[in-house]
Amino acid sequence: IKNEGRNNFAAYDPTMEREYQDRRKLEHDLRLALQRSEFSLVYQPMLCARLDQFMGFEALLRWTSPVHGSVPPDIFIGIAESIGIMGPLGAWVLRTACTEAARWQNPLKIAVNVSPIQVQQGNLAETVAEILAATGLAPERLEIEVTESLLIRHPERALATLRAIKALGVRIAMDDFGTGYSSLATLRAFPFDKLKVDRSFVRDLCEGSESMAIINAILGLGRGLRLPVVVEGVETELQAAILRRCGADEMQGYLLGRPLPIDQFKTITVGRGAT
Ligand code: C2E
Ligand code: CA
Ligand code: CA
Ligand code: CA
Repeated sequence: IKNEGRNNFAAYDPTMEREYQDRRKLEHDLRLALQRSEFSLVYQPMLCARLDQFMGFEALLRWTSPVHGSVPPDIFIGIAESIGIMGPLGAWVLRTACTEAARWQNPLKIAVNVSPIQVQQGNLAETVAEILAATGLAPERLEIEVTESLLIRHPERALATLRAIKALGVRIAMDDFGTGYSSLATLRAFPFDKLKVDRSFVRDLCEGSESMAIINAILGLGRGLRLPVVVEGVETELQAAILRRCGADEMQGYLLGRPLPIDQFKTITVGRGAT
């Protein structure tokens, strides 16, 4: 970008070469990050909108590298998928989150994000079953969040995996609902238990806005299909008030709690809090 206008015709671009090297280094270090214990989970509370009570947490993956610093998941998850380590990394996330949740005194839910790559790989249901057995976590407390991307590429395989996971008693939420190319078709094709509305619809939520109409339509869809709807990215009291009034089932966002290491939530996971 720096060279724009000058190097338009250059065959060798040092900036591109540099970017390529950086990316190779990132891939290399990401490959080693699991054995080097550079991953951790933070937990964001999910609130029941009607009762104003905490229902559970979503586990979110963090990579802190001594070389690259804190790399956002929106960047490293895609790379992990492309270099073929999403299977073991995703299994680590599931195992760590379930181990943590099994220790809580209150039977709160734990939501874990799963890459569509894991769903396609075919052994995800076995992995989930094995982790539930090993940690002793009740299956009803686990919720798997999956985005629609790629699911339709091998629909039979994805369907078989999701059905097998549901048969264990685990719930499946469709994440980032409304952002894909075929949210409605995907919704009909797969056995989801819950819709999670993408936060892009919440950002400019106010009376009479287009986002308001879209959120209302999704909440109506959820009621019609008897699927609870979670709205994420709630940052202001105004958004929360609107969503409560419109009948959102659950809310999540910086207003209600940022994702933090679990020891920051002692009062919720131990002692009082929601039961
Ligand atoms: P997501 O599953 O849609 O997660 C919600 C993202 O929104 C998280 O970003 C969260 O920190 C952020 N967020 C929560 N509340 C607010 C809010 O009020 N305002 C704003 N602006 N943002 C909010 P994060 O942790 O950076 O994760 C980004 C994405 O990376 C996730 O989106 C998910 O797709 C992926 N991801 C994170 N952890 C995992 C994982 O363990 N496995 C897989 N496969 N993907 C993961
Ligand atoms: Ca999610
Ligand atoms: Ca989401
Ligand atoms: Ca997302």
